[in-house]
Amino acid sequence: MTQLLWLRSDLRTSDNTALAAAMACGPTVALYLVTPGQWLAHDDAPCKVDFWLRNLAELSTRLGALNVPLLIREVDDWQAVPDALLKVCREQGVQRLHYNDEYGVNEQRRDHAVTTHLEAAGISVRGYLDQLLFTPGSVQTQSGSYFKVFSQFRKACLTHLSISLPACEPVPAAQAPLGITSDPIPTTVTGFPRPTDYLRALWPAGEAFAQRRLAAFVEDDLNEYHQRRDLPAEPGTSQLSAYLAAGVISIRQCLHAALSYNQGELDSGSTGVTTWINELLWREFYKHILVGYPRVSMYRAFRPETEALPWRRAPYELEAWQQGRTGFPIIDAAMRQMQETGWMHNRLRMVVAMFLSKNLLIDWREGERWFMRHLIDGDLAANNGGWQWSASTGTDSVPYFRLFNPISQSQRFDPDGQFLRRWLPELQHLSRRDVHNPSAHRNLFGVTEYPAPIVDLGASRARALDAFRNLPDAQ
Ligand code: FAD
Repeated sequence: MTQLLWLRSDLRTSDNTALAAAMACGPTVALYLVTPGQWLAHDDAPCKVDFWLRNLAELSTRLGALNVPLLIREVDDWQAVPDALLKVCREQGVQRLHYNDEYGVNEQRRDHAVTTHLEAAGISVRGYLDQLLFTPGSVQTQSGSYFKVFSQFRKACLTHLSISLPACEPVPAAQAPLGITSDPIPTTVTGFPRPTDYLRALWPAGEAFAQRRLAAFVEDDLNEYHQRRDLPAEPGTSQLSAYLAAGVISIRQCLHAALSYNQGELDSGSTGVTTWINELLWREFYKHILVGYPRVSMYRAFRPETEALPWRRAPYELEAWQQGRTGFPIIDAAMRQMQETGWMHNRLRMVVAMFLSKNLLIDWREGERWFMRHLIDGDLAANNGGWQWSASTGTDSVPYFRLFNPISQSQRFDPDGQFLRRWLPELQHLSRRDVHNPSAHRNLFGVTEYPAPIVDLGASRARALDAFRNLPDAQ
């Protein structure tokens, strides 16, 4: 009974639920579908697509060691996926398809169409929980609905985990050779320009590297995570988001690594560990929200009343924000960090998102799209959740009146201006005091090269507060 493993966002051999299940059922062939039209429609960033391809090349080698051939097929979009899969099943004499579940609306519709199509042709289909610790819908309030408040969701998750911890699957034993040759992995895909060598070198491919990054983070940084995680100049966070999003490492592997450092304690012991586990649970929370409230993955606000906000059409200001030319160093440094590295520090994601959606009063969806087009870790649930949190349109989001001031955020979290100088060389010569707010010191030598602020912080803050206060159901 030949098994087909359809790889998507699970590019690893260790602790891969669908791979282990397929190989336990019989001789297994793996398949990856390149779908450029769909990726463009989803705003997937070129650096992310390149990261997928580089990881596929590593994965192909590892699958080769298990005698699992990796086939590559290209179709433009997900409409064409059911037929493409059926064709491969017929070519290879496949009796069962295995995949790890994905949770966006389009992903679920695609998988439903695949299941209907294949089952009609006599091929069975099995999906597995792998990307998350819990199946969406299985962690519920007492009244049987999805949690909307993170702290309550977190508490319920910790209770479940303290009773039963999901185990990691070992890499399966090699199967007998099938005599099928793996396809070459494409090195580029039309529509997705190759990123710079500098960017690529920051994100080496492969699960061996991801495991080393996890081990080094746990060893060197995890214990102080709660103290350093908000400082963008420091390497205080794991930088594993791209690996988690592409499934090069699993959530269970991350959780077990943290727990073994903390003598198995989930909610006590090292504050660094418990804070990091919290962040892993934010990831879980937003994916559950995506399934429980699918409108958020269809460009809708979680809080419907915020759809009435009077978003401004301000193309010049939007472009200044995108290109890192707002005149606020912390915003500009962060936006340039994302353009050049494909990643932005979490504190800064919140600061720039709040600046766009509150101070500029530009629709958060513009920012969400720009992030997706540039992030190597771009993930629908986390990105949408982060944007809606910052714009106060989401579930359990920041209260609308708690606006971050970009200058005081900069002074607080980058006190020496080390991060600012790294990304804004034109401010290199400014003192520790002046670098956060060069417009206050425009007579200083060289500062004129840097733009003046595009917005007055006080007036724009008042404008945002008014916009929210005037909403029909605002509290
Ligand atoms: P660590 O601090 O080491 O955290 C470990 C892991 O937990 C991360 O790798 C990530 O998988 C998860 N995580 C941490 N914080 C969050 C969070 N707030 N929400 C959800 N998951 C979290 N994260 C993405 O993975 N993809 C995105 O597209 C994305 N877009 C964001 C947009 C905005 C506006 C905001 C405010 C946040 C966004 N985040 C996103 C969440 C967070 O910023 C990143 O996960 C984090 O910066 C990644 O760095 P790290 O791997 O060093 O994280």
